[in-house]
Amino acid sequence: MSAAADLPSPKTGASRYLDEVLSMFVRSFEADRAALYLWSEADGRFTMRSAHGFPMFGQATVSLRLGEGLIGRVLAERRPIYTEMAASMRGYIPHPNFPDGDTQTFLGLPLLRGRERIGAIALYRRTGHPFLAEEISRARLKAEEVAAAVQNAAALLAAATAGGAAAVRQLLKPEEQLSFRGSAVSNGWAMGPLRVLRPRFLPGAEGGASALPPAIRGFDEACAIVEENLRRLASDLDRRLPEAASLILDAGMMMLHDENFAGRIKALSEGGTSVTEAISKVASEYIAVFEASDNDYMREKARDVEDLALRLLDAAILPDARKAETSRDGAVIAAEKMLPSDVLRAARDRAAGIVLCAGGATAHVSLLVRSLRIPTLVVKSRDLLRLPDGEKAVLDCANEILFVHPDESLERKFANRAGEEAADRRIEIAMPERTATRDGTEISLEANVNILSDVGAAVEVKASGIGLYRTEFPFLMRQTLPGETDQLAIYERVLRGMPDRPVTFRTLDAGSDKVLPYLDATREENPALGLRSIRFSLHYPDVFDQQLRAMLRAIQRTARDDVSIMFPMVSSVEEFREAKRHVESCLSSLQTELGDTQLHVPFVGSMIEVPAAIAVADALAEESDFFSVGTNDLIQYTLAVDRTNAAVAASYVPHHPAVLVSLRIAAAAARRHGIPCSICGEMGRDPKYLPFLIGIGMRTFSLEPQQIPNCRELVSRLDLKDCEAHASRLLALSTIPEIESEIDDFSKKTFG
Ligand code: PEP
Ligand code: MG
Repeated sequence: MSAAADLPSPKTGASRYLDEVLSMFVRSFEADRAALYLWSEADGRFTMRSAHGFPMFGQATVSLRLGEGLIGRVLAERRPIYTEMAASMRGYIPHPNFPDGDTQTFLGLPLLRGRERIGAIALYRRTGHPFLAEEISRARLKAEEVAAAVQNAAALLAAATAGGAAAVRQLLKPEEQLSFRGSAVSNGWAMGPLRVLRPRFLPGAEGGASALPPAIRGFDEACAIVEENLRRLASDLDRRLPEAASLILDAGMMMLHDENFAGRIKALSEGGTSVTEAISKVASEYIAVFEASDNDYMREKARDVEDLALRLLDAAILPDARKAETSRDGAVIAAEKMLPSDVLRAARDRAAGIVLCAGGATAHVSLLVRSLRIPTLVVKSRDLLRLPDGEKAVLDCANEILFVHPDESLERKFANRAGEEAADRRIEIAMPERTATRDGTEISLEANVNILSDVGAAVEVKASGIGLYRTEFPFLMRQTLPGETDQLAIYERVLRGMPDRPVTFRTLDAGSDKVLPYLDATREENPALGLRSIRFSLHYPDVFDQQLRAMLRAIQRTARDDVSIMFPMVSSVEEFREAKRHVESCLSSLQTELGDTQLHVPFVGSMIEVPAAIAVADALAEESDFFSVGTNDLIQYTLAVDRTNAAVAASYVPHHPAVLVSLRIAAAAARRHGIPCSICGEMGRDPKYLPFLIGIGMRTFSLEPQQIPNCRELVSRLDLKDCEAHASRLLALSTIPEIESEIDDFSKKTFG
């Protein structure tokens, strides 16, 4: 999602970028003086890095502790401060080199990533020239919008002053076919060269220039090639992931133009170091600094640097410049673990498949690779990471196996498969509009949407609507909180993409394994039981309200009366009420803003995901407009089994009698109170459980778009009376083996 059009381009390098950000504020808000400060957690101080209207800046500067001066209060309290009489405010300190007697109108804006401090912007006007309320709120929004890129710039500036070294690991050299067994996270298969994500390793970083082929291009030319390639890749990614394409482009662009990063490589090469060695050396130093940080965001940046350095090396070395772009295409990427940002890079590079080590796929990485249709496998052996780049790999998710250095017959088999599938794709299948059981009971099959491109897929399979839009993806893919404007644009696209069928937005489901590094200030001992989901939103009311405002604005802009908002992991009536109060208060401020217009008001519902919600299901149904059962979490919390922990996967039993009874309680409570109840967890797409769920009264299922055609076909083979009898039999059983045998019998009879 691109930021507002008037924001500066990160193309200029870190220092210049900061100057441009400040100039933009000066221009937009007619400031007579302005300063941009960066906060350093390590030093416990913040320092003026760019200034306008301070004639001594450069000879004298300002470096303060948190809370010192008015701007120090802005940072300490993480809130804007506005005054028309700066000198009368608590904390005010006059600076000997920067007298401000005639510029007493002060607006200080914090630059934050969630709660993390990045810096602050101070705007001054001459005394008697106040800022209007509208200008203040616009300035706040702008500060929010530039925060991510300012942090990027700050990280580059910080790394420029430190040094480090790279470590090289022992590699395996496969002589014959190797295989790695694992469990599939998404479907499909892939064949391509292996690419192991090995941060800290850059060719030649330790061995000097001799370890690398000689460069055939100068650094400037290599930069130009990489820049063009990055642009092309970002525009290609924009179709599949419009939420993220520009983010990923900006990170690389800023480094390419940064005087410390690119400037140092250039200076080294002009001073006699070979181009390749200069790239490796400078990049390795940056990587070492980032990797040594205890801040997640900084460690993630190591991957950005590595990615860029490898591109620059390719561009400098490879005779065919275009190869630098395509050499990554179609690779099978292996890594210890991946963050959503790594998946984005993989998608941008058109990765054919992904293989991760056990524990390396969080829930959101799993959802993201499925939405992006990247075949992904999680393997146990860490030897995977010792394989050399470029080895041929065949990833077969259906059989949950990765082959490296495949023998000829295997390679031929998969090459033939590619040809057959291409032919299959040409056959168009007519998609029915309606889903019903044999006896004519209507079932709604809605879509779970993780990323914007899923909306198109949902329309294609004629989904009856969007039953779950997981709003956290834009939060997870970014390195900072998406602003209200960015969120609004995304929600509006979701609504416009599904124009005539209902849409359900779920509010931010952060926490546990859906970590937002920039908001999770403290590490939790037990994150699955910690500050997550609706608790998280209620703990950060500003973030919550901002999201609700963006949703409500999108609903008004599209004039929709069929939109719902639901809260994840509601555990009590009070929690639901408190969350709903936020919706009401955001609606009422929107009403004030829009005047007499009749507002379009969403339905507000509860997700049923924890046993506590089951226990108070009637009271919750009384107040909720609808229920949506998140079986993934309901199973995890009912059985106390971590849904992402392979070691306890065998205990994650959806058909455990406690889960079946809980589902019946939720469905019955909803029926008693006349509210709809749907299923949006994965249990709803499983042919084994569909008859039971229909039998207890569930009529709406929300599932991944690609599963809808199959589910529609399965439903058409069911009979309501049979499903009800099957559900009654299951609910009368109290052991898992008995339940399994009833399910098996029913499935065989019904589906063959
Ligand atoms: C669920 O828990 O079933 C659910 C749909 O939510 P998520 O998988 O996003 O936690
Ligand atoms: Mg859930």
